[in-house]
Amino acid sequence: MTSTSPYFTRGVLTRNMGRRVRAAAVGSGPNLAKHPAGRLQQAGASCGRPARRDAAGHPAAHSIQETVREIPKVQSGDSIPRNAARQKRERLQAGCNSSRGRQCASPADETNSTWEPKDWREQWDNITEMRKGRDAPVDSMGAEQCFDKTAAPEVMRYQVLLSLMLSSQTRDHVTFAAMNKLRDYGLTVENILTIEDKTLGDLIYPVGFWRSKVKYIKQTTAILKEQYNGDIPSSISELLKLPGVGPKMGHLIMKIAWNNVSGISVDTHVHRIVNRLKWVRKETKSPEKSRQALEEWMPRELWSRTNWLLVGFGQQTCLPVNPRCAGCLNRDICPSAKNNLRKTNPGLPPSSLHQPCQQQQ
Ligand code: SF4
Repeated sequence: MTSTSPYFTRGVLTRNMGRRVRAAAVGSGPNLAKHPAGRLQQAGASCGRPARRDAAGHPAAHSIQETVREIPKVQSGDSIPRNAARQKRERLQAGCNSSRGRQCASPADETNSTWEPKDWREQWDNITEMRKGRDAPVDSMGAEQCFDKTAAPEVMRYQVLLSLMLSSQTRDHVTFAAMNKLRDYGLTVENILTIEDKTLGDLIYPVGFWRSKVKYIKQTTAILKEQYNGDIPSSISELLKLPGVGPKMGHLIMKIAWNNVSGISVDTHVHRIVNRLKWVRKETKSPEKSRQALEEWMPRELWSRTNWLLVGFGQQTCLPVNPRCAGCLNRDICPSAKNNLRKTNPGLPPSSLHQPCQQQQ
């Protein structure tokens, strides 16, 4: 559940486009962060467009159409930025002449901060190709689809926060239904402060751990009212102090609500997939450890896209149980494909393991 830079909608990135992405990635671009009080940047000002203003002359709030435009429209030609000179320099520094990255790990490699996983670029491109249909549950019912795009910016941000609090341990369609009920009731700080716990529980049921979430939502909403004038905090450190908000949702809130990429949002899908693909140097035991390991090597311009890309991939192809390896474009370059294919096709000879499997299609 995430959104990313609009530059990814333009097909294969050139080197210059990659530079522009990096330049724009630092707190720029239109989003919910365009507060009427103007305490943040004006809408669109940092991305080359003239700032829009409302009737009163305030910077205009980010519209749903603009928000949707921010979400990458994946095309078959979409790719990741490549810099052959940089890659060659890094290979030489690591004493490796292979064109496929860090395959010849040495003790020096282990401490080299430029380590990157073997084949990750090709794997990334393959996943992008498999995700181009944008037809996973996260695409239609994720956090970016749960808030009222016509509401005031601080209300939209509050709704983003609540949708992500509800989404923990909950399927997207359940979160989406609960958010619709809350929005019909009137999802504002003032309304939630006065709502009975039982009524709130009825509205959000059956999201996972709904009783605990009632408590966290009431506590968090009271803090927002008292300390943030009814808005949400604009820094990851402040967000993580709120009851019921962890790093996974915190980084996603920062991206969606404030258009600020503070880190990679790693949920169970992302955690599982990066371990299967060996995008972490050593197997990690928690999403938070995976986030730290990913951020060590992944180019920052890809951080905001990682959650969206891998969550949908995990919902449709790289499933938690019985991943659909036979139909996956990465099956020939994925370190886990063979094991998974053997588990799901125990009777097949090794030579046939990479053939499309009728049973799994
Ligand atoms: S080959 Fe299988 S385990 Fe590997 S990424 Fe594809 S679906 Fe996941």
